[in-house]
Amino acid sequence: MILSEKKKSAGCEECHYAGYTVKTSGNYARAVLCECVINCERCGGSGNVMRRNENGYAKISSCAACGVVRRNVRLYNGANIPAKYFHVHQVDAGLSPGSMNQSLQKALIYAKEEFVKKFPTRKGFLLMGASGLGKTHLAVGTIAELTLGHGVKCMFKDFFYLLSELKQAYSEGTPENDVILPLVEAEVLVIDELGKGRSSEWELNILDQLISKRYNASRQTLATTNYVTREIAREKGDATEILEARVGERIASRLFEMCEFLYLEGKDYRRKARKA
Ligand SMILES: [Zn+2]
Ligand SMILES: [Zn+2]
Repeated sequence: MILSEKKKSAGCEECHYAGYTVKTSGNYARAVLCECVINCERCGGSGNVMRRNENGYAKISSCAACGVVRRNVRLYNGANIPAKYFHVHQVDAGLSPGSMNQSLQKALIYAKEEFVKKFPTRKGFLLMGASGLGKTHLAVGTIAELTLGHGVKCMFKDFFYLLSELKQAYSEGTPENDVILPLVEAEVLVIDELGKGRSSEWELNILDQLISKRYNASRQTLATTNYVTREIAREKGDATEILEARVGERIASRLFEMCEFLYLEGKDYRRKARKA
C-alpha cells in the first residue's frame, strides 16, 4: 500500500521519491516537502483539486499526486520527534539483525510485525531496560513509520518534560487540559523515560487521567523506562510492582493492561557500534 502511494506521489531523485526530506529544527526533527511536491503539476502546488460532480457542483478534494505526502509530513511534524532521531523513519532503521541480541530482536519483531503492520489491533508496548539499549530509538522508529508511512496521528513526549509542563501550567493557572488534551487525542502516544524525576500526587493524578482517557478511547500507548530492568525485576518482584514505586499503582496497572511488557538486555548498542 505504501509503495503504490509513493509511486503515485510526485517524487523526484532529489527526495529519493519520498516527496520530503527530514532535517532538524531546534529540538525537533522536521520533514520538509520537496520542490517536486511544492510545485506539483497536478494541483499547481495547492494540495487540492476542484472536481465537479454530475450535477455540476464543485467539490474540493485532496490531490491524488501529493495529498498523501502532504498529510503524512504534517503528522510527522506534529509528533514532536526529538532532533537526535531525525534519521529514524522506520522501526528497524539503523538496526541490522546480525548485530542485535535476542531481546532487541524480540522487541523489534513485536514493534514491526505485530504493532505497526497490524495497527490498530495490537496492544502498545513498554520497553524496559538500562539506558543505551535502543528503547527510544525503537519507539521513535515506530511512530515515524506510522506517521510517514501510514498517516497515523502520533505524539512523542518525554516524561520529565511533561511533568515540568504540568508544573508550569499549575503555577501560571492555565488549565492542565491545555497540556494533556493533545496527548489524549494522538492515536499513538510515546511516553519516554517514564518515571524519571520526582512527581507529586497532583501530577500523578493528571497522568492517571491522561492514561485512563486513552485507555477508554482504545488508543495505543508506548513507553520506555530505565527503572525496570530484568536484573531488578528478578530481585524485587515483577515489573508492575517496580513501576508502582515510580508512578503509582493505578498508572502501573493500567499500563500493564494497555502494553506488552518487553525487556531489553545487553550492552550499550551505541557504544558497541562506535567500537565496531
Ligand atoms: Zn522530490
Ligand atoms: Zn498535487
